[in-house]
Amino acid sequence: MGVTDVLVIGGGLAGWRAAEAAVNAGASVALVANGAGNSPDIHAINVPVREDDSVELFVEDTLKSGRGGCDRALVETLCRESVKLADEFPFDRNLDGSYKLLQPLGCSVPRCVSIDHKIGAWALARIRRELSGKVDVINGRVTKLSFNSQLSTFNFQLGDGGASGVARAVVIATGGWCGKYDFSDNPPELRGDGIDMAVKLGAATRDMDQVQYEPTVALAPERVRCIPVITTMLFDGATFRNAKGEEFLSDKHANKDEISRAIFAEIEAGRGSDGGVWFDATQVPRGILDTTYIDTVKRYEAAGVDIHRESMLVAPAPHTSLGGLVIDTHCRVLRTDGTPIPGLFAAGEVTGGIHGFNRIGGNAGTETLVFGKIAGEEAATYAKGKAE
Ligand SMILES: Cc1cc2nc3c(=O)[nH]c(=O)nc-3n(C[C@H](O)[C@H](O)[C@H](O)COP(=O)(O)OP(=O)(O)OC[C@H]3O[C@@H](n4cnc5c(N)ncnc54)[C@H](O)[C@@H]3O)c2cc1C
Repeated sequence: MGVTDVLVIGGGLAGWRAAEAAVNAGASVALVANGAGNSPDIHAINVPVREDDSVELFVEDTLKSGRGGCDRALVETLCRESVKLADEFPFDRNLDGSYKLLQPLGCSVPRCVSIDHKIGAWALARIRRELSGKVDVINGRVTKLSFNSQLSTFNFQLGDGGASGVARAVVIATGGWCGKYDFSDNPPELRGDGIDMAVKLGAATRDMDQVQYEPTVALAPERVRCIPVITTMLFDGATFRNAKGEEFLSDKHANKDEISRAIFAEIEAGRGSDGGVWFDATQVPRGILDTTYIDTVKRYEAAGVDIHRESMLVAPAPHTSLGGLVIDTHCRVLRTDGTPIPGLFAAGEVTGGIHGFNRIGGNAGTETLVFGKIAGEEAATYAKGKAE
């Protein structure tokens, strides 16, 4: 059986970005996945492109939102490398040439860029198109990953006793574990497999009790259930109301964790509606709703709700795993003693430390592109060194 240089486990943006970087570095690559995880849902990502923004401000906002839980070196890498994305991606612009920007909760200035409101799907399609025929794409789940210390290679197995393969280096990009919860906006295949595989190889984890709740996940109608409503609407005039129609959030620009807590408190105090609260976008100017938020307008329209006139029933739901594998700025997976596990790399939501205890909306997409690239390059360099 042939030995692949780099095995990528996961077909989200972190995985495909790693595959792209590894191929560009001259490595042979196999990518295993069943589905694309959360990545096709990425609406926008953070890049400090505005004149009054900077890498320093981006770092400051991310550390502040992380509430003391961030790895500073990873945050600095995220923010510094994000700037290069502006040269690579044709982010949407206004007629005057300025970037179209949204301001996520926790950002001091508008920082979220996109491509046609769907940068995740756009980037995945572009990478897959470019890599067509250059990557061995295997549709399935990796169920076992082991290390052959005599040959310094990894063995991987698919399904229950299914096909197997050998690789010199591995990038784990299996996303988070929020698919395990009943009411979540994540698909059920996201259940933390990569963390389990890496821990069996001696990897350390961090912040495994930390999950970010999205405050505005639709409870009803059934057609939109579990689909989140974008919180940047709060900057455009949206508000929360309880069962009595009262506004209850004192700071509409608070971070997602604070908003989720305020919603839960309202529900627990008996002022909720059917287990949720009302997200009211009726005061958002029609011109903004019908352009910036047209996807939400259309989605609700198809479910029989006109959000120009009616509120949306929402509740907080597990959205992003904040904890995960411990990595360094080279995306090397670390053991509990802080040393890297040779040949094992990770990127994306499967890792911990970047967002601390509260992630800024838009930072996850940036994370997949920045760290997926680093992981792919590092894995290719490692594998080629072993092959010589
Ligand atoms: C509805 C929604 C909207 C979001 N919008 C935004 C946004 O606008 N901006 C932003 O920054 N972030 C957003 N996020 C967060 C962001 O989508 C994720 O953090 C990001 O996509 C994670 O990318 P990833 O590549 O690490 O994992 P994923 O994209 O989740 O991909 C994981 C991959 O691993 C595969 N996998 C899992 N286990 C195995 C296994 N055992 N074997 C093989 N493959 C396996 C899965 O099939 C999948 O292909 C959103 C999240 C959700 C749920």
